[in-house]
Amino acid sequence: MEDFVVNSPLELDADQVRALLDATTAHLIAFRAKLDARELPASYVADSLNVDRYEQGRLAASGLREDELPQTGTEFQVLLDQLFGEAMTNGTLHPHPGFMAHVPSGGLIQGAVGDFVARAVNRFAGVWIAAPGFQRIETNVIRWFCTMLGYGEGSFGYLTTGGSLANFMAVRCALTAHDDKQPGPAAVYVSTQAHFSMLKASTMAGLPAEHVRTIGVDDQYRMDLAELSARIADDRAAGFRPVCVVGTAGTTNSGAVDDLAAIARIAHEEGAWFHADACFGGFFRLTERGRAALRGIEDADSISVDAHKSLFLPHGSSALLVKDRVRLGDAFEIPGAAYLPGFVDEPELADFASYGPELSREIRGLTAWLPLKMHGVAAFETTLDEKIDLAHYLADRLATLDGLEVVRQHPIHLPVVIFKLSGARDSVLNAELCELVCSRGNVYLTTTELPEHGLVVRACILHHQTDRTVVDRMVDDVEWSVRVLRDKEN
Ligand SMILES: *Cc1c(COP(=O)(O)O)cnc(C)c1O
Repeated sequence: MEDFVVNSPLELDADQVRALLDATTAHLIAFRAKLDARELPASYVADSLNVDRYEQGRLAASGLREDELPQTGTEFQVLLDQLFGEAMTNGTLHPHPGFMAHVPSGGLIQGAVGDFVARAVNRFAGVWIAAPGFQRIETNVIRWFCTMLGYGEGSFGYLTTGGSLANFMAVRCALTAHDDKQPGPAAVYVSTQAHFSMLKASTMAGLPAEHVRTIGVDDQYRMDLAELSARIADDRAAGFRPVCVVGTAGTTNSGAVDDLAAIARIAHEEGAWFHADACFGGFFRLTERGRAALRGIEDADSISVDAHKSLFLPHGSSALLVKDRVRLGDAFEIPGAAYLPGFVDEPELADFASYGPELSREIRGLTAWLPLKMHGVAAFETTLDEKIDLAHYLADRLATLDGLEVVRQHPIHLPVVIFKLSGARDSVLNAELCELVCSRGNVYLTTTELPEHGLVVRACILHHQTDRTVVDRMVDDVEWSVRVLRDKEN
């Protein structure tokens, strides 16, 4: 066989590629070993409210600032040391099993390997003809996600880098589905507990912010349906077009799930699109308890899901799922271009460029495909179930602590536990409680604000490695923190 010699200064030979990969692997293994040995804190930030106090992060960032273009090459090993050293040891650590802030994303390494393969082979996933094999694999993943969420024949979707983008695509679908109907300005309906990305999605899609109606919630933080109906009626009378109602399947604040079946009914009676924001809760539908809580989601016209949340994958793994494939195609259809191969959309081989906002992009499906194929879906179901059990366990244990109150406004459907100091009127004290717990380094929590309760401490359990040991340690830290606060007061 003839050997072609490449003279590009950018070319690496096989041995150099292997050396690159081996060195990277060694660093990754060492990093994971440190996490396993709990040598790293769940967060280098203890106080998430007053980040202006976070000098260490600012210093780390300024230490890495480089205004000059790199003029000469640097040894790979030196660069890796920088990535796994200076760049790593600051901020909040999502890969840590004690990370319980926001909505955790542990990031299965298997998923990262799938993503790595996709990028390393660098096939083009904009049109199916460019990589029919990989396209089919990505389509399989979309199909599996549809099945997991209860969608059947005729449904489809698009893998996005995040839930925010999926929500944006959903509003775009709602608007195009409505295009040829009555005149009048469009209105979108969300609850006070909806994720802020819905407002952003709507304004990005061209709606004025004030046309996004915020509906109140009941005592379980679910959208108030009477208020929704009344607001829609008022808007109709005022000449507005109700184009989209958004139900949340797992609010970021408290894990509450809207009455999706009822919202579906109301939205469809009004001829509006029903979008379910299931970024947090979506994949819990794999479990029995999740299925019960998310009842009605299969009636949604579109569903956004974050596999980087409830499927434990690395960031950048989300999807918009649409009940009727045609609606998705209508919203993102492209007119074609002479320099592209013909768009020859077939039922099972989609040109992704015709179903989403992008053209050139990597193969996305492998991030989910590899872990799902390696372990089978039951492993995910079991792990999700375990998280719900752990949330119950944590709530029960916290409830036994003196001076602490677990806020149980709703049954725990999704693994969020909310607590506060008993009788504390002062939100500063609850913020201090959160900071004290985080300062121990075992877990990272944040506070949030809930109607009726004000500032509360919030723990979201969704890292695949979070287990009883982690939770027990957290309870010890909470107990310790409550004591410190009490001693300080006396
Ligand atoms: C996280 C989240 C989003 C946003 O998703 P990203 O992937 O962070 O863009 C939207 N809605 C809900 C309910 C979420 O929890």
